[in-house]
Amino acid sequence: MTLAVPFHRPAITDADIAAVTDTLRSGWLTMGERVEAFEEALRDQTDAAHVVAVNSCTAALHLALVAHGVGPGDEVIVPTLTFAATGNVVEHVGARPVLVDVQAKTGNIDPAAVQAALTERTKAIIPVHFAGVPCDMHALLDLAADRDLALIEDAAHALGAEYRGTRVGAIGDATCFSFYATKNLTTGEGGAVALDAASVAERIRRLRLHGLSRDAWKRYGAGASWRYAIEDCGFKYNMTDLNAALGLSQLERFPAMQARRAEIVAKYDAAFARLRGVERPEVPADRESARHLYPLRVAAGNRDRFIERMAARGIGCSVHFIPLHLHPHYQDTYGYRHGDFPVAENWGEREVSLPLFPAMTDAEVEAVIAAVTEAVRGRA
Ligand SMILES: *Cc1c(COP(=O)(O)O)cnc(C)c1O
Repeated sequence: MTLAVPFHRPAITDADIAAVTDTLRSGWLTMGERVEAFEEALRDQTDAAHVVAVNSCTAALHLALVAHGVGPGDEVIVPTLTFAATGNVVEHVGARPVLVDVQAKTGNIDPAAVQAALTERTKAIIPVHFAGVPCDMHALLDLAADRDLALIEDAAHALGAEYRGTRVGAIGDATCFSFYATKNLTTGEGGAVALDAASVAERIRRLRLHGLSRDAWKRYGAGASWRYAIEDCGFKYNMTDLNAALGLSQLERFPAMQARRAEIVAKYDAAFARLRGVERPEVPADRESARHLYPLRVAAGNRDRFIERMAARGIGCSVHFIPLHLHPHYQDTYGYRHGDFPVAENWGEREVSLPLFPAMTDAEVEAVIAAVTEAVRGRA
């Protein structure tokens, strides 16, 4: 009997639980002091001048597009190898997602493909730091500066990553993080925008709560004013103190959790270096990965069977991602077809994400390594 390992198990400690129950007893459940404290802690973590916490990375991306004036008639360049959210938010503002291919090595957006896709209507680029590895930001920053485009990063995988010594969060115009249950740091559900421009941050702050004037969330507190003004047509995207309490508690352990991810990745790398028939994830030398995923690539045509063999051994795997252009919505709406983006398709056919989470025990890591070795060699 081998050890079963789920794809993910959240790392929730007694301190996390106490932080949330303290909030439940505090008399204030929704957005309040804990959200402000979480934003402050995230500013430290990312080196960003401003952080606005919201209820998902999807909301963060949506608000970043709105606040950068992206709307109907505009085009936004998005890598096809990503999650649904990255493309959906572009349509939410009435713009058109223009899909481009990725780089073979990293699965990250290919700056040459971005350049080729630019038109007069291009308003923004949304690079995705796939698996936690930062994109080629120098090339993207140059393109964005030349054409006055907004560089809005989907950093759902990349809290803790660095590009040439600069933390992800302090590079582009706006960086969007996810604190979804499986991400490197979780608030259950949650997200944040990190950015430098004070005026844009102020607008996002307003837009996350119905467009109400700043601090309107305090209107139910003791001694607070009941008066508020609607200054913008906003959304209901605020984070709650319950979520922020969990995030703050997790953030204290973040360096330790990241260090544990690094240990697991080192074990995987060492074990799979000797294994024929798989490609390990690569991280360019000038960047530090957040190590959100361990995306192994197996032989084309073999991936689905590989996942079945892993499942038969009780090991949970996942796939990141089925490229957007292979989904019915993109094919029906924009006419994308199989064959349009061969590099992303190669990833989509061969990629399998192994379990990688800080709560994994050494025995679990060994069980995954043993199962991968057997599954690659084709023993069912
Ligand atoms: C998880 C994820 C998102 C969405 O994050 P939510 O917080 O669930 O909205 C966006 N982009 C990528 C690449 C993701 O993996």
